[in-house]
Amino acid sequence: MSHTARIERDNAWPEISFEERIGTAEFRIHEKAHITVNGDSCRGCTTRECVVACPANLFVPTSDGGILFNYENCFECGTCYLVCNKEGAISWTYPEGGYGIVFHRT
Ligand code: SF4
Ligand code: SF4
Repeated sequence: MSHTARIERDNAWPEISFEERIGTAEFRIHEKAHITVNGDSCRGCTTRECVVACPANLFVPTSDGGILFNYENCFECGTCYLVCNKEGAISWTYPEGGYGIVFHRT
């Protein structure tokens, strides 16, 4: 007997575009950053995957070879942690309970 996995669609969430969905997002910002970036590690990084991969554009290269990072509008997707190939450059956790990104049904 074969088993076929089925994923049921949640019809309570209207089908809207990515941009519209992000437009509904609310950021409950905790005073403690849930992601931190070690600027010393970034200084020697020539590939800078985080800059192109972060969908929220939260990594900004500086003229002195560093990286500016702002955790406040983070989507919590984990992409930066996956693409950065420098051990210890990024410390990543989810925000504390009750904080972080919140999506609203429209
Ligand atoms: S976070 Fe990682 S990928 Fe981004 S600049 Fe720093 S070392 Fe490079
Ligand atoms: S978790 Fe996603 S949105 Fe947040 S900083 Fe990393 S890549 Fe950007």
